[in-house]
Amino acid sequence: MARRLLRRFSIGAGVHRNVGIADVVISGGGIVGSALACALGKSSAMRDKRLVLLEASSENASLPQPGDRYGNRVSALTPATIQFLKDVDAWETICSTRMKSFRTMHVWDSCSEARIEFDSKSVSDLPYMGCIVENRVILGALRRCLRNVETVENCQVNLVEKSPREVQLSSTGNEQLKARLLIGADGANSTVRKAIEGGKHYSKSYHQTAVVATLHFAEEIENETAWQRFLPTGPIALLPLSDTSSSLVWSTSPSHAQSLLQLPEDSFVDSVNSAFSDNVRNQSLPSRAVQALRSLNQSDHESVCKYPPSILRVDEGSRASFPLALYHGSTYVNDRIALVGDAAHRIHPMAGQGLNLGFGDAIALAKVIAEAAENGEDLGSEFYLRRYERERLRRVVPVMASIDALNTLFSTSNSALALVRGVGLQFTDMIAPLKTLIIKTAAS
Ligand SMILES: Cc1cc2nc3c(=O)[nH]c(=O)nc-3n(C[C@H](O)[C@H](O)[C@H](O)COP(=O)(O)OP(=O)(O)OC[C@H]3O[C@@H](n4cnc5c(N)ncnc54)[C@H](O)[C@@H]3O)c2cc1C
Repeated sequence: MARRLLRRFSIGAGVHRNVGIADVVISGGGIVGSALACALGKSSAMRDKRLVLLEASSENASLPQPGDRYGNRVSALTPATIQFLKDVDAWETICSTRMKSFRTMHVWDSCSEARIEFDSKSVSDLPYMGCIVENRVILGALRRCLRNVETVENCQVNLVEKSPREVQLSSTGNEQLKARLLIGADGANSTVRKAIEGGKHYSKSYHQTAVVATLHFAEEIENETAWQRFLPTGPIALLPLSDTSSSLVWSTSPSHAQSLLQLPEDSFVDSVNSAFSDNVRNQSLPSRAVQALRSLNQSDHESVCKYPPSILRVDEGSRASFPLALYHGSTYVNDRIALVGDAAHRIHPMAGQGLNLGFGDAIALAKVIAEAAENGEDLGSEFYLRRYERERLRRVVPVMASIDALNTLFSTSNSALALVRGVGLQFTDMIAPLKTLIIKTAAS
């Protein structure tokens, strides 16, 4: 692995040790920070630049071995993200470790059983809707691809001070490092963000918690479908990991999440199976409206019967929970600082877009930094950073707004709203060009 490690300093508290100036410092070596470091390290325009990646955790970003249990944190990667991973040479490692592509996606509403089915076959040149990959596999593969990047683990950035020509960082162990450009890739509780935003942001709690777990089926199947059912308490999703297992993401009320975590394994599995299959056989207005729409669509009869495979067991110790919140900073850039990934924006996982947006940030920021370098400009130049911000705001804000609106629309059993969304979902399912457009937008 061609990566240099910064010298480690062991010095007394209160004493600062200067470790020089870097052209670009990335604070946070999670998936998005590592992706950006890979892209910058690979760029010929950055060949003579000093790039530093600082990561607070000391956990080894190693790849799982064949036969190891699946990690409970997984991501659905879009074709655009996969193309980026190919460009930085990480995709081959991911494929040879493990990943699962999915071709179809079924989404349905528990209040009316209205449903929509997406199939990659409906779009030419789209071999799959996306791929499900464990987060540790993505991170391990990216870290293996780092070139020309000084990587320091177990190094937490604590303080950021700005001056016109550089940004100064203090980190664990009292090391001080200066940067022409500092990038905050340090996640939802970003330290770097605090240095730029002056407290202006939009945030809200969803009052939902996501329960994740690794689940196994009774028998081997052709597991090429991602399933998501909207319950009044939040969506429950099943993402393929292999032909015998899938990953669960169940967003629900915090108290229900707590009880799901505490249930005996058998009862937990029963709860998951019921949440996916309990049928609504009532004569409510939303159900009748959806049935009427379906009867207009002859080809729908087949899809009505499609339900996820029955779950047999859950991996011991794989259950975990994550509180869900929305966050959007008032700006992504300022005074030689830029934010990427969850440091800049955090969204509900129901559409599997959070990490994909982070990859989009990494791609866009790497591009403007390389352009500044090619033109012999200051890498912290506001002119280039604002271009990055404009491009990303155009993409991120509409995605955030639509996911937030969908979550509000689906997280209620109010019959008027259930009617609107049931009819809307079923109607969209009947309009093939609209579905193709949705698939293309989600893939980009
Ligand atoms: C249940 C769930 C399911 C999800 N599913 C999907 C999905 O299917 N598809 C998708 O696209 N997205 C998904 N997401 C969202 C996705 O997980 C996040 O958007 C993504 O992990 C954010 O990556 P990041 O690198 O920006 O931040 P993080 O993963 O939080 O990484 C930040 C890194 O910075 C380090 N750090 C923090 N503070 C400091 C500091 N002061 N100094 C140095 N280092 C620091 C941390 O140790 C960490 O390594 C999901 C989220 C949840 C909760």
